[in-house]
Amino acid sequence: MKMKQFAVIGLGRFGSSLATELINEGLEVLGIDRDEEAVDEMADVLTHAIVADSTEEETLRSIGIRNFDCAIVAIGDDIQASIMTAILLKDMGVKMVVAKALSVLHGKVLERLGVDRVIYPERDMGIRVAHQLVNPNLLDYIELSKDYTIAELSVPKCLNGKTLKELDPRAKYGCSVVAINKKNGVIIAPTATDVLNERDVMVIIGTNEQIESFEEELV
Ligand code: ADP
Repeated sequence: MKMKQFAVIGLGRFGSSLATELINEGLEVLGIDRDEEAVDEMADVLTHAIVADSTEEETLRSIGIRNFDCAIVAIGDDIQASIMTAILLKDMGVKMVVAKALSVLHGKVLERLGVDRVIYPERDMGIRVAHQLVNPNLLDYIELSKDYTIAELSVPKCLNGKTLKELDPRAKYGCSVVAINKKNGVIIAPTATDVLNERDVMVIIGTNEQIESFEEELV
């Protein structure tokens, strides 16, 4: 079943951005922060926003935190508060607990506590931006596993007007084009005769090495 009710604990830069995006997706979001100013700033955006200290068990209980589908611990700098909040949420039986980690060690502690998903926003964004800087055509990517990736690449000028048969990425690099996003619509599972145009977006799947060698040809 789709998750509908979220509690975002810590309305700093990461927490407030995440909470706003959940609201934009049409979901219900309770924002919690011990800092009144942070709560005031988000009060008009979120379904509810309250000033509270998430390390106080009684406070979390009175909010009815266990009835939320997902709680996100978006506290970073105060590692002690992050860890204490995560333990309380797990002990109270919140179904899905997500927590932001500032370091590998912080993340390991959160995992040991049974946090369902640990995220490393700064580390992951650093890696993502580095990939995009090295490969100017890379728009976005998803790591399917340690070895396999799906990547979105913008079609450079040198491929304008070429068919997939001419490009032949499967034979040359081992990766497959699974979709082409064009101005007038998306072609899913394109065939050999489909034509690429500059600024189309190709969605490709392959091993990291295959995708890297394909990208190198495009630069
Ligand atoms: P970011 O880097 O995303 O801005 P911060 O760690 O700077 O993250 O901000 C986290 C937010 O969490 C702050 O607004 C802070 O007031 C809040 N916070 C920290 N500890 C608690 C706590 N125990 N209860 C509620 N809110 C907290």
